[in-house]
Amino acid sequence: MEGKIYKALSGFYYVKTPQKNVYECRAKGSFKNEGITPLVGDYVTFQVTDAEKREGVVKEIHKRKNELTRPNVANVDQAMVVFAVKDPNPNFSTLDRFLVLMKKQNIPVIIVFNKKDLAKGNDIKKIKETYKNAGCKLYFIAAKTPDGRNPSRIQMFLLKQQLKGKVTVMAGPSGVGKSSLLNKITYYDSDEAAAVGEISKKIGRGKHTTRHNEIYDSKNGYEIVDTPGFTSLLVNSEDYTRDDLKEAIPEFAPYASQCPFKDCKHIKERDCAVKKAVDEKKIPLSRYNSYKSIYEEIGSRR
Ligand code: GDP
Ligand code: ZN
Repeated sequence: MEGKIYKALSGFYYVKTPQKNVYECRAKGSFKNEGITPLVGDYVTFQVTDAEKREGVVKEIHKRKNELTRPNVANVDQAMVVFAVKDPNPNFSTLDRFLVLMKKQNIPVIIVFNKKDLAKGNDIKKIKETYKNAGCKLYFIAAKTPDGRNPSRIQMFLLKQQLKGKVTVMAGPSGVGKSSLLNKITYYDSDEAAAVGEISKKIGRGKHTTRHNEIYDSKNGYEIVDTPGFTSLLVNSEDYTRDDLKEAIPEFAPYASQCPFKDCKHIKERDCAVKKAVDEKKIPLSRYNSYKSIYEEIGSRR
């Protein structure tokens, strides 16, 4: 039979078939010797060992589209990074680090700014200006307002459309409203609320618990994986190079070709077209500063 791993726990893999039957599986013995570990998100072929108890053995792991570590998930369609407009203030440097890492993995990123209700004056405009050319979809929402109002119905609707039917890894600092958002997404449709409530009981997902190494699979087609925060997402992997980094800032592309040096690093070079574009505010300064700081970091690692 074939299915997808939704959860991994103490050597067991919970494989769901297209008919939504869940089998508790062990991994084939020889995987260990071959250094193969099944991951949440893997499409697998498994053999049923006990049809009644729904138990089986994973025999084969199908080719992965991609693979993340911490959380250990395979076949991720997209990443959703959540920040708050205010309270806590967004950390653009963290956000930029996240973006360049996802770029390397070819994972599209959705940036969600929550707590739209707390925005004042130019807050939203400034964020939009900074990220409009970063190559990501950008949403401003309010997952849970103190007065119950929802100033973001359309954006929320569009966001949900973007999430539907895809495996999304969700990241973001604590306190920005990730749990609130998850609840909103999976509980919002009243006709499905009952069903979702049932699922949460079954898999023991309380309102505020955060689960990793598990795809939270709601009946209405949202498959979301929580991540334990950003600690694992710094640009610290050995194989991340300065060339990767240059490619990861899409705002540079229109100017980089005008730099006098073919291999311009856009750091100290004279007549650098990228630096000029930053001076002329064509490239957001905070994006460039993130680039510089990650660039230095990669250098000092060597
Ligand atoms: P998490 O740590 O990222 O999971 O954040 P929570 O979902 O626990 O939310 C943190 C706090 O922010 C809670 O007190 C929420 O009620 C509040 N909160 C969540 N979303 C919003 C929002 O859109 N607007 C406002 N004003 N507060 C929110
Ligand atoms: Zn340059």
